Amino acid sequence: MNDISLRISDLKHQRDAVILAHYYVDGAVQDIADYVGDSYYLSRVAKESPHPVIVYAGVRFMAESAKIMSPEKTILMPDPSASCPMAHMVNEKDILAVRARHEDLTVVCYINSTTLVKAYSDVCVTSSNAVKVVSKLSSRHILFIPDRNLGSYIAGFFPDKSFLFLDGFCPIHNIISANAVRNLLSSYPEAKVLAHPECRREVLELADYVGSTSGIIYEAARSDVSTFIVCTEEGVRHQLMKDNPSKTFHFPVSAPICPDMKKITLDNLAASMEHMSHPIEIDENIRQKALGSLIKMHELAG
Ligand code: SF4
Repeated sequence: MNDISLRISDLKHQRDAVILAHYYVDGAVQDIADYVGDSYYLSRVAKESPHPVIVYAGVRFMAESAKIMSPEKTILMPDPSASCPMAHMVNEKDILAVRARHEDLTVVCYINSTTLVKAYSDVCVTSSNAVKVVSKLSSRHILFIPDRNLGSYIAGFFPDKSFLFLDGFCPIHNIISANAVRNLLSSYPEAKVLAHPECRREVLELADYVGSTSGIIYEAARSDVSTFIVCTEEGVRHQLMKDNPSKTFHFPVSAPICPDMKKITLDNLAASMEHMSHPIEIDENIRQKALGSLIKMHELAG
């Protein structure tokens, strides 16, 4: 172990802390974490963890979701400026405006959203459970926020429902172009295309498999194919290579890298535990309302 790894390990014991890392953070941070996963998996780990301190190597909405579910725990953000731009593309006023126009409406918000947006929504979803959750909703109109790409992918499963979208998208996945995927396919025609549903429709139409980050990792390991074109954030390559050292993974040229996820480093992780810095705080009234959307998701997703 090098110096910084030893320091992090000591601090973890001193603080009785656990480190959670998203697949999109830097590989060195993933390697030092106690748990690595997508946002849904990590939110469950955070809830069930017996440790009083959770250091969240990810972006703000993830750390806030953990705090909403576990207010008694201290949730630390190594870099408080790490935030998902998509989460800020929709606000509570947008939701109220749509609610005023439609009576038979359920507001479904992707977990990649602010705490306030969760508080004004009826139910949360993740990319892994969105189809299951929406299948249990009785209303005809669904306002799906903030991601219009994920929303229109989910809408394809429910032709009897009327979906409404606002103008939110993940800048990282949205930039992946169908042409970039076609170019890779012309070089590797045997490759299987794996895509995250935050990508645009024309990219998803080229995919052999569409699913969450965890789903993509599982599919790559399960498949007999040895060459893949992966349409999601490039940090996932670290886990893919660990699980499948003999397989090859290509990412589109417009290499999708989330700069906010890359703000988490070993240094700021250690500093956060040393100074107990950047704990998440949420107004209790808002937290209670946002909790309702997350609890509803867990009830409906089973
Ligand atoms: S990859 Fe996209 S959705 Fe994920 S945190 Fe970055 S901007 Fe947000």
